[in-house]
Amino acid sequence: MADMKRHFGLSSRMAIIALVLCMTSQAVGCRGTESVGQDVRAASTEEPGTGTALAEIAADERFDTELFAMDTFMTLSAFGPHAQEALAKAEEEILRLEAILSTGMDDSEVSRINENGEGTMSEVTASLMEASIKLWEVTGGAFNPAILPVMRLWGFTDGNYHVPEKGELDEVLTLLDVSRIEFDREAGSVRFGREGMAIDFGGIAKGYTSARVMDIFAGCGVKSAMVNLGGNVQTYGTKPDGKKWKIAVQDPRKEGNYLCVIESAGEAIITSGGYERYFEEDGVTYHHIIDPADGYPAFNGLVSVTIVSSDGTMADGLSTSLFVMGKDKAIEYWREHSDEFDMVLYTDKGELVVSEGLKERITSDYLINYVGRP
Ligand code: AMP
Ligand code: MG
Repeated sequence: MADMKRHFGLSSRMAIIALVLCMTSQAVGCRGTESVGQDVRAASTEEPGTGTALAEIAADERFDTELFAMDTFMTLSAFGPHAQEALAKAEEEILRLEAILSTGMDDSEVSRINENGEGTMSEVTASLMEASIKLWEVTGGAFNPAILPVMRLWGFTDGNYHVPEKGELDEVLTLLDVSRIEFDREAGSVRFGREGMAIDFGGIAKGYTSARVMDIFAGCGVKSAMVNLGGNVQTYGTKPDGKKWKIAVQDPRKEGNYLCVIESAGEAIITSGGYERYFEEDGVTYHHIIDPADGYPAFNGLVSVTIVSSDGTMADGLSTSLFVMGKDKAIEYWREHSDEFDMVLYTDKGELVVSEGLKERITSDYLINYVGRP
């Protein structure tokens, strides 16, 4: 039984530090500050007539936008006088990023590069390429932005799901060597060193997108907001009453139930799970998060991984990476990078493993096993 979502074949990996710098330098403004690309224009909130209207909007008045983009259902909520303008800009930006990054759209920038095996990258794509290559390095290859040929082989790109022959997989594995991607960050140019290589930023793009939306909220003067891009949540500030947001993480095994609830103010809470996109063949379930080591869906004992971090792009990249690593390696990775993120791992034995940084702000009906720093 195939899942209901279409494939949003994005690709890329992220350079943790570089990306943070890059995002900071590209803050989107509502008040004539900087804009991201040509499509998001800075606009003043002080045009004639708007001043009065804005003044009448209370700080706790809520506005919502819903859209379907990047193959997922998204909800954006923001509060206060600048919320409507910020939400409109956020929606515009999400659609702009989708049109650049989607592997499901033939005319996207990423699709054109994949088709030609080379090309010039926009700032968005170059940032994601840089970030993805760095993530590939720091995760020992668990994150692989060149995963698209494998996604295609399993049918995740066109819905023609099937288990590939071993020979087919072995052939495609030769295309996953990220060291064969010649990427010049300065020039913004990329060339694949092997014919058939193709990039897919699907493991990182929604986190990058939510981070960009946070930039828009900041530029517009919004104080309080939250977005949910298909289960990838990012909060901005606190709730209007000054209290932290309570973000419920879905229980992958019991629809409608929560695995845990995390209190959050101004950070990303991003989950990867095999349950999000999958198909069944001969009674076996095959999901969309691939272990680049063998080209098969990663079955390393994890059902879901949630990453909590102020860096949305990193959180998304790591949710995919730690899912591939499995519990023991994920814990090891967290111990080496515990100042960068926190995590919630849910294993196929029903065990909930939580990094100790979340101790004061996580609740669950399940028994929590905390892991500490060495
Ligand atoms: P996420 O839901 O963030 O874990 O992303 C899953 C998506 O990332 C898949 O649908 C693929 O587009 C892509 N992907 C799958 N396996 C990997 C991997 N090992 N490294 C990077 N991206 C991957
Ligand atoms: Mg991810």
